[in-house]
Amino acid sequence: MAVSFRRPIVALMVLLLGACASPPPRLAAPPPPPVLDSDSACLKDLRDMHVAFEPQAPFGQPGSCSVANPVKVSQGGQMGMNRPGVMSCTMARSVERFEQQVVQPLARKILGQPIARLQHMGTYDCRARRTEAAKASTGGESGSKGGRLSEHGKGQAIDIGGFELVDGSVISVKKDWRNAGKKSEFLQQLARASCEHFTVVLTPNHNRLHNDHLHLDIGPHRLCGM
Ligand SMILES: [Zn+2]
Repeated sequence: MAVSFRRPIVALMVLLLGACASPPPRLAAPPPPPVLDSDSACLKDLRDMHVAFEPQAPFGQPGSCSVANPVKVSQGGQMGMNRPGVMSCTMARSVERFEQQVVQPLARKILGQPIARLQHMGTYDCRARRTEAAKASTGGESGSKGGRLSEHGKGQAIDIGGFELVDGSVISVKKDWRNAGKKSEFLQQLARASCEHFTVVLTPNHNRLHNDHLHLDIGPHRLCGM
């Protein structure tokens, strides 16, 4: 009886001694440094580039018009805008990098002065793609019915109608694209270089629907419509 009673006590003491001898349980590993998700990293990039913008609430549903990380941009880091434009943060970052790496250096090189203001004709816009076929079938109301969703409907596109220089003169895609001279040279070189920053670039050379603007987007397709 006594033996069978003592053995569990001995065993318990051994266990307790073992527990005391073992190193104290490890403290939980310190939490990893906060990792910026892509959205907040993008917003930080915009701030770092001195873009004037307001973050917007995400809207829409995937598959239809929607923007997951929209921002309303009112001014680029190095040039103004004729009016604010809503676009995805990723697109705003692409536009700003394009501005800093292509637009301003080219303007200084070819035109001898920087661009003061971007004249855009649209950013976010919930509509179908504009094609010549769609235009014919809707009697001119292009992009209003059916068809594949435009990258504008995802906040991934911008239409650029022209630029205003610091001396007030204007470079217009509609008026200057086909002319000889420095304004045309600027637009042509700018469009060519924009293919490095955007996946789709459509110019007046692409079709008549782009007669008066450059369409730049960061969608899944690839086309340098020079
Ligand atoms: Zn467009």
